[in-house]
Amino acid sequence: MKGSHLLTCLALILSSWASAQQYSIIIHGGAGNGLKPENYTEVQKAAFHAGLNRALAVGDSALNAGTAGPEVVSLVLQVLENDTLFNAGRGAVLTYEGKASMDASIMDGASGEAGAVAGISCIKNPITAALAVLRYSDHVLLSGSGADDFAQLHGGICVDPNYFLINSNLKVLRKIRGDQGALDSLIDHKMGTVGCVVRDREGNIAAGTSTGGLMAKKYGRIGDSPIIGAGTYADNASVGVSCTGHGEYFIRNVIAYQLAARYLYLKEGGQEAADYMIHDLLSGQKAFGGLIGIDAKGEFFYAFNTVGMLRGFKREGEAAQTYIFDLQER
Ligand code: ASP
Repeated sequence: MKGSHLLTCLALILSSWASAQQYSIIIHGGAGNGLKPENYTEVQKAAFHAGLNRALAVGDSALNAGTAGPEVVSLVLQVLENDTLFNAGRGAVLTYEGKASMDASIMDGASGEAGAVAGISCIKNPITAALAVLRYSDHVLLSGSGADDFAQLHGGICVDPNYFLINSNLKVLRKIRGDQGALDSLIDHKMGTVGCVVRDREGNIAAGTSTGGLMAKKYGRIGDSPIIGAGTYADNASVGVSCTGHGEYFIRNVIAYQLAARYLYLKEGGQEAADYMIHDLLSGQKAFGGLIGIDAKGEFFYAFNTVGMLRGFKREGEAAQTYIFDLQER
């Protein structure tokens, strides 16, 4: 009797050991055709790698401490939102009128719950506003000043609008206003949307995206980043995804969800489904962008049809890897 009890205990310990997996994290900092090696100095490239590594390190320690997936995603994206190199939070591009109008979303693949905000203008870290919607609201998507108010009720920090007016963005905006550039050229002025997907030791997936949208946008334009299924999606049974690129195409093609559906129903791998979405579907429409993700088996995937995509990934106990261009020219 005693012996069989011991065996049961041993079997339980072994099975929980086997089911505990390495956690993993993947991030992006935007995709663009302006991301050419010759456009950046070594110092600038090093700054991109350092920013991505800082974010991965924060995610790594939060996952190691057993923090819930959506909270980890929020912590990681706050690091990138605070870094002016990226088009999110402090570095968010500006509307034609010269204001920040930011979008963010987050999804919990374990519960299927999601939270998103669109067109917010005072919350320092928009991803925390999206997380507040996920955790404390009956709704999924809040917009404008109402979303700013809701976030503040749940601890969001509202900053002076000048906080978002960084010189590099003001300079580009002035140039665009002067030459009335076409939409195509606007899209390349500053990409740098940020995204994160994590998978914890129990296999729970969470994903989030945060952006300032497109430089010089007008009329309250909203892209794919706060749209669940377009710019962000997470489901433990399939994939977690965060997208970046020309948002209108990501919305029309429901990119993030369509990728999950291919994994689930066509039994494609995450990478196979990602390649199809970017290189067949979007390239076929002459649309540009990229995405990152983790599938239910814990495999990383990413794809982009731009010259570069800032990205990085790390698995528990392994070294972090960060890239700007292709795998050869980091
Ligand atoms: N997808 C974002 C948008 O359309 C922009 C980007 O990822 O660069 O708002």
